[in-house]
Amino acid sequence: MFPSETFYEKQLPEHERDIVQLVGDFVDAKVRPVARDTEHADRYPADLIEEMKRMGIYGMRIPEPYGQGQVSTICFALVTAQLSRGWMSLGGAMGGHSVVASLLDEFGTDQQKERFLPRMSRGELRATMALTETQGGSDLQAIRTTARRNADGYMVNGTKMWISNAQRSRLIALLVKTDPRCEPRHQGMSVLLVEPGAGLTVGPPLSKLGYKGVETCELVFKDHQAPEDAVLGGKEGRGFAQMMRGLELGRIQVAGRAIGVGTAAFQAALEYAKDRTSFGKAIWRHQAVGHQLSDMATDLTAARLLLLEAAHQFDTDKRSDLTAGMAKLAASEACMRIALQAMRIHGGSGYSTEYDVERYFRDAPLMIVGEGTNEIQREVIVNQLVRRGDLG
Ligand SMILES: Cc1cc2nc3c(=O)[nH]c(=O)nc-3n(C[C@H](O)[C@H](O)[C@H](O)COP(=O)(O)OP(=O)(O)OC[C@H]3O[C@@H](n4cnc5c(N)ncnc54)[C@H](O)[C@@H]3O)c2cc1C
Repeated sequence: MFPSETFYEKQLPEHERDIVQLVGDFVDAKVRPVARDTEHADRYPADLIEEMKRMGIYGMRIPEPYGQGQVSTICFALVTAQLSRGWMSLGGAMGGHSVVASLLDEFGTDQQKERFLPRMSRGELRATMALTETQGGSDLQAIRTTARRNADGYMVNGTKMWISNAQRSRLIALLVKTDPRCEPRHQGMSVLLVEPGAGLTVGPPLSKLGYKGVETCELVFKDHQAPEDAVLGGKEGRGFAQMMRGLELGRIQVAGRAIGVGTAAFQAALEYAKDRTSFGKAIWRHQAVGHQLSDMATDLTAARLLLLEAAHQFDTDKRSDLTAGMAKLAASEACMRIALQAMRIHGGSGYSTEYDVERYFRDAPLMIVGEGTNEIQREVIVNQLVRRGDLG
């Protein structure tokens, strides 16, 4: 993938390089030829998802003995980027699932791991995470969904909004208040492992600008009974901290999606600029266009390196929120700029649904908003900078 292998990719073990290559080949052979039509029809890519399951993509965050073996976060990020180079919705379809797998792996009880992870690793059981609520997603400590103890476990009430893969997921990592009056607020929060059933209504797919083919829905809990052992890790009050760690991986995943879309947009622009002529020469030879391509490639490469550093830190450090936040911020903003530049380089054709660049332009904003908006990333980054006092 563009531009060339970085230092990080060269360090990957042979089998992880093969995985990235395999996914890249799958994207070129099976995804890119159908992405435009499937996306325009807003059709769920069932066949492609089945192939992703067979390739082990849903098990990438799940170690033995529950799965086939966990890959490094660098490999995970590169696979996400490859899928999203073909169609961002495929990167999205395995995003929340992978974060939930990682949460279970890091915080789950043995029983919870045994119950969910083997089926998740094969993609037989798909998972999503539900944090956002109608009255606001950025201030997670203000959520109103509650899980109150009763004789059978927990009674769940509340509404979640914008939940991806909601209709097809049979496991929901649900952020709730188990102690709504607790101060500080985050200590009253837990992650519940919820399986759909009575008292949970999944709404119809919401109409969206992009990220099509994969449903995003409202979840309404009305006296939904969750079992006694539904709390992730078995202890209440740890949910906020657990989710914050999960979001580090989520932000790396979203940055990977942005790098994938940005790469596709850049490549489309480069090809078009070589083919299209004006005033007797290929348009890339007009300095205004050529320099745009240079800026796009530089932007993309810088964001990609930051993503790979964040992925490396996720595996080696206890905390990677500073770099994961920077990677998500840099990659998503670069992706948006590159998608717009790619449209401009395509001239009128960039506005046509006959070309893919209009899809990149519609998909790009999600990475700015999802997994915490970029304004929230900036809050995370400055808080860490002040706390640490340096970048070292
Ligand atoms: C297609 C799609 C899929 C999604 N999938 C999921 C999912 O699977 N699971 C899930 O839980 N959520 C999901 N989300 C929700 C997403 O994470 C939220 O939309 C996002 O976190 C922002 O929350 P909000 O929409 O409530 O915006 P708000 O929190 O209302 O923010 C509105 C604006 O105010 C700004 N703002 C708010 N607070 C501050 C602050 N302190 N400082 C500076 N600016 C601030 C924000 O940056 C934003 O610009 C999805 C969203 C979309 C669009």
